[in-house]
Amino acid sequence: MAKISINIKEGKIADQSDLIIGIDLGTTNSLVAYIKDEQAIAVKGKNKSALVPSIVHFDANGNIIVGDEAKEKLISDPQNTIYSVKRLMGKSYKDVQNVEQYFGYQIIDEDTESLVKIRVADRFFTPIELSAEILKELKNRIEKELKKEVSKAVITVPAYFNDAQRQATRDAGKLAGLDVLRIVNEPTAASLAYGIDKLSEEAQTIAVYDLGGGTFDISILQLQDGIFEVLATNGDTFLGGDDFDRVIVDYWVQENNIDPKKLVEDKSFSQAIRLAAERAKVSLSSKNTFEENIRGVKHSINKSTFNSLIQPLIQQTIQSCQAAMKDANLTNSDIDHVVMVGGSTRVPLVKDSISDFFGKTVNDSLNPDEVVALGAAIQADVLAGNQKNILLLDVTPLSLGIETVGGLMDTIIPRNSKVPTKAGRQYTTSVDGQKNLKVAVYQGERDLIEHNRKLGEFILRGIPPMPAGLPKIEIQFILNADGILKVKAKELRSDVETEIEIRSQYGLSEEEMGKMLLESIQHAQSDMATRALLEARNEANNILLSSSKFLTQNEAILSQEEIHKTIQLVKALEDTVSGTDKDAINKAMEDLNEYTTPLAHRAMDVNIGKAMQGKKV
Ligand code: ADP
Ligand code: MG
Repeated sequence: MAKISINIKEGKIADQSDLIIGIDLGTTNSLVAYIKDEQAIAVKGKNKSALVPSIVHFDANGNIIVGDEAKEKLISDPQNTIYSVKRLMGKSYKDVQNVEQYFGYQIIDEDTESLVKIRVADRFFTPIELSAEILKELKNRIEKELKKEVSKAVITVPAYFNDAQRQATRDAGKLAGLDVLRIVNEPTAASLAYGIDKLSEEAQTIAVYDLGGGTFDISILQLQDGIFEVLATNGDTFLGGDDFDRVIVDYWVQENNIDPKKLVEDKSFSQAIRLAAERAKVSLSSKNTFEENIRGVKHSINKSTFNSLIQPLIQQTIQSCQAAMKDANLTNSDIDHVVMVGGSTRVPLVKDSISDFFGKTVNDSLNPDEVVALGAAIQADVLAGNQKNILLLDVTPLSLGIETVGGLMDTIIPRNSKVPTKAGRQYTTSVDGQKNLKVAVYQGERDLIEHNRKLGEFILRGIPPMPAGLPKIEIQFILNADGILKVKAKELRSDVETEIEIRSQYGLSEEEMGKMLLESIQHAQSDMATRALLEARNEANNILLSSSKFLTQNEAILSQEEIHKTIQLVKALEDTVSGTDKDAINKAMEDLNEYTTPLAHRAMDVNIGKAMQGKKV
């Protein structure tokens, strides 16, 4: 029987012939993998390595070079050679200000809140554009290998990446000509590569220890019914194999009486010694001593010296592991599997220390550089519908919500929520005696519904007449695994209810979704300002309404002066509401509230007194 796989997201039958590739877009190195004969393999380059250094170089003619060749320019032409761009993904200048000196290239400060740009000569690039260059290189590499075009990918990101960083990664994929079907957490990918999801029916707790070139991440995952959940993450964004190299260089500087100034002034010497240190580190993973001549001087180090030098660094990673375990509310004996990821976990002392800490043999049989990319390829294969017995877990690609007063979008199910899912919120009426309530359902990320996509609307009828604000109307969104959205509205005091069903993703392509997401980022600032103004106006209108009610109901209790002053303040507020200065509106609301609060208290006391008088005991 033929197997048909349905793409839940797009509501159409998936094209089996399309290969989906897996990409590990790393801080130091990136790689691409795919499934061949049911086996995940990473695509190797000329030098027999699958690693593409995540480095982009711009030569004098403005040509772009990525990978090993670009790495060679790191010391000779640092201004035009961009490394560690992943650290800048989805970040504003404010976010990176304190680590800016780490970068050898120029990061542009335009406006502290906006996303960073990188200046290369007189051109400006976003981290998204630079990452796209790395992705293009990977795309080329696999297309050459397979001799056919590829256009669909799964890309991995650290578990702690926020929405903006994930979105930036998606956008980079799009720029590189890749349809990014899924963003997968790196620790999840590593666990998939080890097939941990296939080992047992029972829930599993997994610690993924990832020590790369410049970053360290520990993630605690819970796997249940094929679903990975991140329980906790911790780490150090400036700790990795580069630090191992650095402590070796420091050791040689001391042992061989090298003038530290020479490291700063003599670039080619400093590069030579740094590269020798990395070779020393790598060779000490399998041998006991290392020795090499640099400019006629012997540089040597043995394993036990190296181990004592890196011991404090490993200790730091263990502290992060402890913190993550504490956050996850677990003890070490709760961990079922420990997975080793990243080139630096090849160092035997790292492996042994982590194995000791968790009291468990670690999973290290796969190449730690490749394991994330291999897992991404496996996830890609699942998405392509090629693997049996695996539940296709899906998320809603765009936020779902309703229109509220002023044309604002009120999100009820945020994008990237796992489906099936259910969420609800209570609303009320804005007019006295309101009998009907229109519920308009929208999809999208923008703050104003006019920029989002309307999915449908209905009217909740028969609300018993009540003063504005009294009805309790619960709106519930129920999204099932097929992307069918059920929207229910119910007035809780009277039990009147209505519901509709909508196919939320029908007819919307990944590209259109991507465009909507991109626009939401581009307009984020102005959207936010508009939302703030509209919200201030809504609040002001509510206050104006209740103030006029208050005046008519309590005329008898208030003095002429009090009435006069209240009217004056109401007028002032009305004036600001028609303007566009949200701060002025807020100020006028403050003034009115401040003046009327004691009056309202007095009125309440009088009214309660009256009620008591009328009561028969
Ligand atoms: P990232 O995830 O940051 O892109 P990787 O996982 O590719 O980084 O790890 C790169 C680091 O691994 C480098 O510091 C490299 O020197 C180190 N490394 C690679 N092989 C070995 C080895 N055999 N022994 C020790 N360190 C190694
Ligand atoms: Mg990595």
